[in-house]
Amino acid sequence: MATDSAPATVLEQRRALRTPVPGPRSIALGARRAAAVAAGVSSTLPVYVARASGAVIEDVDGNVFVDLGSGIAVTSVGASAPEVAAAVAAQALDFTHTCFMISPYEEYVAVCEALARLTPGDHAKRSVLVNSGAEAVENAVKIARRATGREAVLVLDHAYHGRTNLTMAMTARAMPYKTGFGPFAGEVYRVPASYPLRDPEGMTGEQAARRAIDVAERQVGADQVAAIVVEPILGEGGFVVPAPGFLPTLAAWAKDKGIVLVADEVQTGFARTGAMFACDHEGVVPDLIALAKGIAGGLPLGAVTGRAELLDAVHAGGLGGTFGGNPIACAAALASIDLYERTDLVGAARAIEDRVVPRLTASLADVGAVAEIRGRGAMLALELVRPGTLEPDKAAAQRVAAACAAQGVLVLTCGTWGNVLRLLPPLVIGDELLDDALTVLEDALRSL
Ligand code: PMP
Repeated sequence: MATDSAPATVLEQRRALRTPVPGPRSIALGARRAAAVAAGVSSTLPVYVARASGAVIEDVDGNVFVDLGSGIAVTSVGASAPEVAAAVAAQALDFTHTCFMISPYEEYVAVCEALARLTPGDHAKRSVLVNSGAEAVENAVKIARRATGREAVLVLDHAYHGRTNLTMAMTARAMPYKTGFGPFAGEVYRVPASYPLRDPEGMTGEQAARRAIDVAERQVGADQVAAIVVEPILGEGGFVVPAPGFLPTLAAWAKDKGIVLVADEVQTGFARTGAMFACDHEGVVPDLIALAKGIAGGLPLGAVTGRAELLDAVHAGGLGGTFGGNPIACAAALASIDLYERTDLVGAARAIEDRVVPRLTASLADVGAVAEIRGRGAMLALELVRPGTLEPDKAAAQRVAAACAAQGVLVLTCGTWGNVLRLLPPLVIGDELLDDALTVLEDALRSL
């Protein structure tokens, strides 16, 4: 069996630059890419990957980068975690695909059992497995509409939910996600989010929620609303942690009005924020939760988990898809979930927050471009502005990310204005490697 014979490559967890970035092999691949890959697909790093392991990525020229992105919050258990790689190899030898809608298998059922156990709330739950985060969000909306018989969907300002037609409609930012791609799905209504740095000073979470509820009740009508879809921490919108009380107030209102509360935990889920799910920080129990990214250690898998009566309101055949819950992805999910629990990756995410936030808060106190250091667990961000103002500085974020890349540290940006640096290291990153990457980041910010 592959499990015994082929341990995954384990790279030394150390940054190393052997050529300028990008090196000659990456430059050659870039030329092939330009002639074959659609220009609409862009990449952050100009290098091509040869191997990845734990919290490092090795490129085709032998440069080794510290990964502070985890493939956008996916490889939380580490890149090519040996346990995940072994599960994938073993499952591939048994069977690669049958389609759960045709001939089902245990791995799908086991993932759904694990999701019922791990997600917030101890009510009866069901799950459906899909291929991506966008597909999970779309299915959550389908389920909420079918179960309530209502059509309207509320979403937050700064939201990101995906690139399909419905999830583009639900996403806030036009460029690059929506511009030129309409018309978009209807019955989607946007309400204000809680954004403590940019809200009126002193606004509480409850006040921010009331502001959103007021818009919804005036412009849509609560009895028309099937679902309110929230990211418990705004992801692509800038890693914005809502003021305490925002989510609980929205949840209480939704419950009162018969509105399905959907938590989009595609980016925040699976230990990332120092809790298994970000809703747990405020004891919020969503009716449906959309999951993907970190669920399967790098394999494509998404899920909707939630109240049994909602999921089971959908007629037989109303949910599914050819690849949804692919057995290899399910095997990877089961191995990843075992790692989250057995190796306490929730604790690891908290330890990363404890290591990063006090250090950067002290070391960057006099860097005027840093308006705020925020986030939870290993979902951390720095919002950059023109010093002395709240004016977003996208160019500064891009300069810092590029300077880090040139020194072998992969840092992603995000934010409605593109002015936020985000840190999403694999939760298994070692202290020494993390410290080294932070030094590079600090130097880049200082030289702004
Ligand atoms: N929801 C959230 C909160 C996300 O962060 C993302 C991806 N960045 C998505 C949905 C879409 O996921 P996918 O790219 O897997 O479709």
